[in-house]
Amino acid sequence: MTSLNETHNPALKSWLASANAADCDFPIQNLPFAVFRRKGSTEAFRCGVAIGDQILDLAAVAKAGIFTGDTGKTVQAGAQDKLNALMALGQPAWSSLRLVLSRALREGAAEEATLQLCLLPQAQAEYDVPARIGDYTDFYTSVHHATNIGKQFRPDNPLLPNYKWVPIGYHGRASSIGVSGQQFRRPVGQTMPPGATEPTLGACKRLDIELELGIFIGSGNAQGEAVDITEAEDHVFGICLLNDWSARDIQGWEYQPLGPFLSKSFASTVSPWVVTLEALAPYRVAFTRPAEDPQPMAYLDSTGNRSGGAFDIQLQVGLQTPQMRAAGQSDASICRTSYRHAYWTVAQMVTHHTVNGCNLQPGDLFGSGTLSGPTLDQAGALIELTTGGKNPIALPNGEQRTWLEDGDSVVLRGWCEREGVTRIGFGECVGTVLPARLPKGA
Ligand code: CA
Repeated sequence: MTSLNETHNPALKSWLASANAADCDFPIQNLPFAVFRRKGSTEAFRCGVAIGDQILDLAAVAKAGIFTGDTGKTVQAGAQDKLNALMALGQPAWSSLRLVLSRALREGAAEEATLQLCLLPQAQAEYDVPARIGDYTDFYTSVHHATNIGKQFRPDNPLLPNYKWVPIGYHGRASSIGVSGQQFRRPVGQTMPPGATEPTLGACKRLDIELELGIFIGSGNAQGEAVDITEAEDHVFGICLLNDWSARDIQGWEYQPLGPFLSKSFASTVSPWVVTLEALAPYRVAFTRPAEDPQPMAYLDSTGNRSGGAFDIQLQVGLQTPQMRAAGQSDASICRTSYRHAYWTVAQMVTHHTVNGCNLQPGDLFGSGTLSGPTLDQAGALIELTTGGKNPIALPNGEQRTWLEDGDSVVLRGWCEREGVTRIGFGECVGTVLPARLPKGA
């Protein structure tokens, strides 16, 4: 588990003035990774590190040749078009790179003149999905979400008996994961309308969001070798924002007995920036279970996981309708919560995923599951916010929403803040719904 070190010192300032602004997502204490290129260009994508309103281009840093030895090799891995090579190097390499970059970006650093030439303004960049994602696993780690959803189907017994014992998950689809800015067509699928005797094929009528965090695996494990919970976090490269869009009506008809399928695989959107667990170290919080709940089984328990296995990451969902966009209004907040309310930690997800011998690989992505907090205004999906579509939410301009409509954009934001610690952020994760394209016969 990463602990505090000199890179977290709140007194550190960068020679780049924009990194020192109080509300900046990317101060020198953050240093998250993305893949990017100049907007509208045909340049190759390469890895970069966010600092203030700029991106430090790791391919340019590698070319400048100012770092040698192991650091030089790590920077070289960052010159590639995806983060996978850097992810595969493992936690000690990510940590050394963080320390070297922290020192080189500080006020008074000898590297300033060289690194100034390796910057690109974020406003002039476009991004790609940060990693080549081999496998995507979607968990279900919010007990509040599981309970809210369960209540709509089983009011007397909302939570299934396995929930408090086993981190629930399923294998999702990696090919349709896109980066912030993603626009996707409203999915088409089979639904069984209420009262009907036969299903129909048509555009989804209950299109929803899922406010999640994405957890990128760094170094993998060999097939057959489970990852012990005390080492689980060493396999995690970092965390991003994730909107795991859902077609609730398609899901309701198709999900039994094997679980979600086409209702989930049409699109998922990640933020470009991946914040490392080391950057998040000041925001660790104790992982606790209510006394009346079963305590985690021994393989899902450790002192470190209890004392600091959870993260207090602030989360917000904004919705911008076409009418708001036309009037020049920015998105309106429809949810505000924190990752600290999750029932299972990142370490527990990794350990449980591998307990059967399943091998994880660099670039694999976990979804946390919808991150709803204890109260309804902290719910991370419309199905909860509108109680299954019964109570539309009111937007500040007088519009209402039950489910997403064509042209709607959803903006996820994440950040960490606490007295005496430097605020860090995740940037944004934006996605927009385009009208469905109906096949023949629909
Ligand atoms: Ca999900």
